Amino acid sequence: MTTSHAARLLTWYDRHRRTLPWRAPPGDRTPPYLVWLSEIMLQQTTVATVGDYFHRFVTRWPTVEALATAPLDEVLSAWAGLGYYARARNLHACANAIVGHYGGEFPEDEASLLALPGIGRYTAAAIRAIAFDQPASAVDGNVERVIARLYAIETPLPDAKIEIAARAVELVPQQRPGDYAQAMMDLGATVCTPRNPSCVICPLLKGCRGRVQGIAEQLPRRLPKADKPTRRGLAFVLMRKDGAVLLRKRPAKGLLGGMDEVPSSAWREGKLSIADALKEAPVPANWKVLDGGIRHTFTHFHLELAIARAIAATAGLARLAPGTDWVTVEKMTERALPTVMRKVIAHAIQA
Ligand code: SF4
Repeated sequence: MTTSHAARLLTWYDRHRRTLPWRAPPGDRTPPYLVWLSEIMLQQTTVATVGDYFHRFVTRWPTVEALATAPLDEVLSAWAGLGYYARARNLHACANAIVGHYGGEFPEDEASLLALPGIGRYTAAAIRAIAFDQPASAVDGNVERVIARLYAIETPLPDAKIEIAARAVELVPQQRPGDYAQAMMDLGATVCTPRNPSCVICPLLKGCRGRVQGIAEQLPRRLPKADKPTRRGLAFVLMRKDGAVLLRKRPAKGLLGGMDEVPSSAWREGKLSIADALKEAPVPANWKVLDGGIRHTFTHFHLELAIARAIAATAGLARLAPGTDWVTVEKMTERALPTVMRKVIAHAIQA
């Protein structure tokens, strides 16, 4: 892309930029706290979903200092439903590092940003470009698509990443690099879309090799993904007569670390033996295995859970084990309950 291409993109951006909850008005720079928070939330999640969460977070924790001093449980609970919960734990750890090491000011250089929890190359570049107007190349999935099409890069992803990154760096202008980064993101999200790109209104139409060769929509190519395995287990929904459900906290590290869950048998690949799984029940009770179950997809596997339900016989069950807790349905919105567990409890209540 020549400078005139960058200029065209910026002219387009001045007219068609998206209004986003975290984005500063034209001419202003978005504070690094808001850039960072929105970018972490947007990983693996759509703009439409993130909007409400973003509002909730900045209302409750308007500064990085406020977020750092919040209990982790409250942050995990506010994050519940956004998925990929390691992001929330890293968010909290990162806020603490910024307050602890940098007095609450985000560092501006790449090496310092990359050393912070949960900040990878893309997020570091986005913060540098958008918050500090540095000529950093922020390449997310949208930008990857634009570049692959612009240069008709036919190497499939992920192998194409190196070439795409190199091309992207060449394109970054010295003037208004922050607006340029956001313009590329907007172009990918609104014009150079995965299907039916709107080439006729695209400011990069002239000189787009993918378009000239008639292959734009097929790019970027991808290597076929390996099928995800399916794990299966039995979830145990133990209810008190007042409707409270027994929850326990997952270990701090690993999948859904630190989140709440109903107890369950181990999640294993292969056929589920209900008789064997029932031996893993948290307490002896009159367990009834419900019809149906739930299915949930994680990054690396699908999960199918059958669900067993029982009514707790005595109040003494409240003292089951450390880390377990009775929670009423009304109070569940305050808990760090991941989507998969919300599905399980909803099924158990409705069945
Ligand atoms: Fe994408 Fe079409 Fe623009 Fe090329 S001309 S960048 S394919 S929208």
